[in-house]
Amino acid sequence: MSFVIKNATVVSPADGCSGRMDIKIENGKIAAVGENLSGDTEINAEGLYAIPGLVDMHVHLRDPGQTAKEDIFTGCCAAAAGGVTSLLAMPNTNPTIDCGEVVRYVREKAKDAKARVYVAASITKGLQSKEPTDLAELKEAGAVGLSDDGRPVVNTAFLRDAMKRAPQYGMTVVAHCEDLFLAEGGKINEGEISAQLGVKGIPAAAEDCGTAREIALAAAEDVPIHICHVSTATSVALIRDAKRRGVKVTAETAPHYFSLTEKELLRRDADYRMNPPLRTEKDVQAIIEGLRDGTLDAIATDHAPHTPAEKADFEKAPNGSVGMESSLAVGITYLVKTGILTFDELVEKMSVNPARILGIDAGTLRVGANADIALVDLNEEWTVDPDKLHGKSKNTPFKGMTLTGKVKKTILGGKIVFE
Ligand SMILES: [Zn+2]
Ligand SMILES: [Zn+2]
Repeated sequence: MSFVIKNATVVSPADGCSGRMDIKIENGKIAAVGENLSGDTEINAEGLYAIPGLVDMHVHLRDPGQTAKEDIFTGCCAAAAGGVTSLLAMPNTNPTIDCGEVVRYVREKAKDAKARVYVAASITKGLQSKEPTDLAELKEAGAVGLSDDGRPVVNTAFLRDAMKRAPQYGMTVVAHCEDLFLAEGGKINEGEISAQLGVKGIPAAAEDCGTAREIALAAAEDVPIHICHVSTATSVALIRDAKRRGVKVTAETAPHYFSLTEKELLRRDADYRMNPPLRTEKDVQAIIEGLRDGTLDAIATDHAPHTPAEKADFEKAPNGSVGMESSLAVGITYLVKTGILTFDELVEKMSVNPARILGIDAGTLRVGANADIALVDLNEEWTVDPDKLHGKSKNTPFKGMTLTGKVKKTILGGKIVFE
């Protein structure tokens, strides 16, 4: 059985491919990209862009243990609705993904899900920074990433050991950068708004001290580090400088850090609270410049579902917001339509580069690759309605906003998983 996507505008920067073409799929793989292809079934994608499925390298699926918020299946439904076909699941679940058994549980449960789930296991047992995990065991079970996301590794020696050993196992260390002592008790960005609201702030320096530490280790040991969810101007500057010096650092930011500022917190609505927090206009401009000049390689969502009950109290609510269903549209609206990035460059940051950083087979439409494709209308406007999201939780900071760019179909391994 073959299946052909006809008349799409194909954008696949990894393959140097751009233009109006057909894509032929056989046995779940790309069989051909070219003109006048035919197959057993055809769909007409006239007016749509065909891109390699997005790779979201920072997702909380909440499974095992917190399935009232999300589970592996519903999280992947949200992924499919956003054009995400591969994602990296973070280990701060209950139990923590810190041993082979839990890695295998996630991978097994994800087998029939609507996205490919790659697993980041923790660097220390239970994210406690007391005992390192067994990298050989985690690798054997299929983990591709290492992170104590949600809680940084306090013991720098454990972090250094993981960074030194990860390349031997073909694993990527992805670091949540935060000085817990500086951040302690903070709810939102420390500054004018936190003072105005009388809420304890998290200083930008809490993130920047972490970023500086991770870069120092990567430089000292000449090993790679990937910096998660960059939100501050100083962290962008630290990463830019490190890259110029040849340090093996890569970095991601999230859609909310280039589109929203701390002013949103004046609503006293916990859906706008995440960690790192929304920052100032100056930080937003620095993030945008970092995306533009290549300092920031990737855009990942930090999709972090929480139930409405948990998000009800502005100050007591846990940190995090969902994002997979709106990430591409936020990118198109705030980066492409404004002329900051071309659409090709956005696809690089949301598919090609994260696949490369994680060393996974994605981000490409070359012949033989998995037929993971998103079909996108670059001009359709839509309003984000939390009740229409496909995941279990509705805590989006983009609620009520009108965005441009809509995922019309998502294809995973040659099968339509969203339309
Ligand atoms: Zn984090
Ligand atoms: Zn996270």
